[in-house]
Amino acid sequence: MIPLCIPNISGNEGKYLEECVSSTFVSSVGPYVDRFEELTRVATGATWAVATSAGTTALHAALHSLGVGPGDHVVIPSLTFIATANAVAHCHASPIIVDVDEERWGLDAGLLTEVLANDCAYDVNGVLRHSKTGGAVKAVMPVFAMGLPADMDAIIAVSEKYGLPVVADAAAAIGSTYKGRSLARMGADLTALSFNGNKLVTSGGGGAIVSAKEDGGAQIKHLTSTARVGATYEHDVVGFNYRMTNVQAAVGVAQLERLEEFLGKKANIADKYADDFRDLTGVLPFPKTDDSTGSNWLSGIYLPDVPIELMARLREALAKNGIEGRTFWKPVHMQTPYQDCVRAMNGRSEAIWERVQPLPCSTQLTVHEQECVIDAVRSVLDQR
Ligand SMILES: *Cc1c(COP(=O)(O)O)cnc(C)c1O
Repeated sequence: MIPLCIPNISGNEGKYLEECVSSTFVSSVGPYVDRFEELTRVATGATWAVATSAGTTALHAALHSLGVGPGDHVVIPSLTFIATANAVAHCHASPIIVDVDEERWGLDAGLLTEVLANDCAYDVNGVLRHSKTGGAVKAVMPVFAMGLPADMDAIIAVSEKYGLPVVADAAAAIGSTYKGRSLARMGADLTALSFNGNKLVTSGGGGAIVSAKEDGGAQIKHLTSTARVGATYEHDVVGFNYRMTNVQAAVGVAQLERLEEFLGKKANIADKYADDFRDLTGVLPFPKTDDSTGSNWLSGIYLPDVPIELMARLREALAKNGIEGRTFWKPVHMQTPYQDCVRAMNGRSEAIWERVQPLPCSTQLTVHEQECVIDAVRSVLDQR
C-alpha cells in the first residue's frame, strides 16, 4: 500500500532514544526537552518556545493563558481539525465558526470583519459580546490549513481593531513563511504547533507554543508544568500537566534536524502533482500564494466543479491500486458537538470537504510511487 502521510524515522531517532533511556531521564525534565525547545524556537523565529504534550494541549494552554473562560467565545474557521474547536471547549467556551477564503482556505478576514461588526456589540462595560448568545468574544484563532498561513495581516488588523488577541493554530505549518516572516512573526500573540505522528516533523506526540513577544514564555511554561513554585509542593494557580517528555523530545530533536530536508521533499511532491495534473481542466492543486510559502504538509487535488459521484469513483480507483486516499476534515460546524454554535458561512468549507482529495505525500515517497498515484488518478479523470 502507498500510505497517505507517514513519519520518516530514519535519522538519529533511535540513537537519541537510546541515550535518553540510558541516561534515565525519560520524563518531563531532560536535555532533549531543552534542545527541542531551542530548535523549535529557531525554526519559527520565536523569542521563546515551550514544548507541550500535544498540539491540542498547546492550543488549550494558549487560550487559557489569555483568560478565555466559561461562556466566552473564540472565533475559529470552519475548515480545521476538530482539535481547534476542542481547545475552545476545554476552556468551557464555545467557538464562533467562520468560513474560509478561496485563496488560502484560512479564516475569511472579510467574514470575520462582518461578524465582529454586525453580530457582536460592546456592552456597557466595554466588553465585546455576541448579540445572540451574550458571550464575550475573547480571541481569534486562524488555522493554517495544509500548512499554508492564513491571511494574517488582514486578520490581525481587524482583531486589533477590536482588541482581540490572536492565537494561530499552525499545527502543521512549521517552516512556513508569510510575507517573508517566519512562523512566530506573522502577527499572532501566540502560535501553536503539533508534532503528532501525521505532521511534517513528529515527536511521536507533542506540541509547542511559540511567540515573538519578549514576555510570556516563563508564564506558559509554569502553566503547562503544574504551576509549581520552587522545589516544594507549592502551586500558585490551577496549572496543567501538559509537558513534553524527554523521550518524545529525543525523537523530536532528531526530526527537527531534518526539517529543511523534509520541507524540500514535501515541496517537490506538491510541485510534481501540480505539474502533472496541470492539463486536466477543473483539477486544482492545493492553495499556494505568491506572498507565502506553505509547509506542504499535505498535497492533493481539489475538483470544485465535478459531480460528487466522481469523487467516489476517484477514491475507489485509489483503493483498487493500493493507494491510501482518505477524505479530509469535515467542517467543524457539521460536527455533532458544535452543530449549535453561532456561525458565519459562505459554503466554501463544505465545498472543499466534499471535493478535496489528499494524495500520498510522505517524505519517503518515491518518484515511481508518485507516478503510480498519478496514473490511478488519471485513469478516472482522463476519461470524463
Ligand atoms: C494536528 C492538528 C491539531 C492537533 O494536534 P495534536 O498534536 O494532534 O493534538 C490541531 N489543529 C490542527 C489544524 C491540526 O492539524
